[in-house]
Amino acid sequence: MPIYFLKLRVTVWVFLGHAILFLMLTILTQTGGVIWFAALIVKHLIPVRFRFRFSQLAFFGILYSMSTLWLIPPLAKVLGREQLPIWSNAHVKPESFLFWYLNRTYVRPELKKVVEEVAVQMQDQYPGAVIYYLDACFPFFDGFPLLPHLSHRDGKKIDLVFFWNDQKTGKSVQGTPSPYGYGVCAKAGQGEYSYIKECLGQGYWYFSPDNRFGELFYDPARYTFDEEKNREMVIRFARHPDVGKIFIEPHLKTRLSLEKEDKLRKQGCRAARHDDHIHVQM
Ligand SMILES: [Zn+2]
Repeated sequence: MPIYFLKLRVTVWVFLGHAILFLMLTILTQTGGVIWFAALIVKHLIPVRFRFRFSQLAFFGILYSMSTLWLIPPLAKVLGREQLPIWSNAHVKPESFLFWYLNRTYVRPELKKVVEEVAVQMQDQYPGAVIYYLDACFPFFDGFPLLPHLSHRDGKKIDLVFFWNDQKTGKSVQGTPSPYGYGVCAKAGQGEYSYIKECLGQGYWYFSPDNRFGELFYDPARYTFDEEKNREMVIRFARHPDVGKIFIEPHLKTRLSLEKEDKLRKQGCRAARHDDHIHVQM
């Protein structure tokens, strides 16, 4: 085989590898793909003797971390989105720092204000209560979806964790026991209408895997759903003038006696279940 053909083949594979990485990093973090290519350029601009044997991955890691910390938050702010509190608010925190590191914690300033205001209101009845958030939106561009949440594309949507208690001690647990935040479900009990079962019956199979996957990492019997605190939180959001809609499973709406709250909706069979989190949007 001629040598130039081999070289071409290697070049095509390398290009494909970079393209796939670009795509994956963009889907996961929005900015990661661009930073991957920036790292490639930076690495080649630095003279060989000053590269300290850093790999492309190390260059990427340094650039990505620096931009996540210092570049993206102020830039997003100029363009209309703000990062949710990471360490600065004792009553509003990310469920996992991964949401922050992957740039999935950006919303419009008005929505950030809503979450912070409700967190303050919660302190009246539940001092020390913390609202933990999951996926919100990416820092830039309306119309850029934060997968797998297709609607999280405009800075106006956020997912929030329910309050859970330790079965034995009765005390609040921090966030959820799921390592990725989702999948800890307050399922419909006996006698409760299950919209999820109805959707599964209609062939919408992807409703359930989240729950089954989540339960691989924790024992559901160890946790109880804090009805009082969750009811209070949902009501506070539902009655906030800047909130337009909240997605919650119908059986929880009934269980928490929230039938009169007209902003509470079910999400439809084509979207993820909402008995492991609520979705709040402006
Ligand atoms: Zn959502």
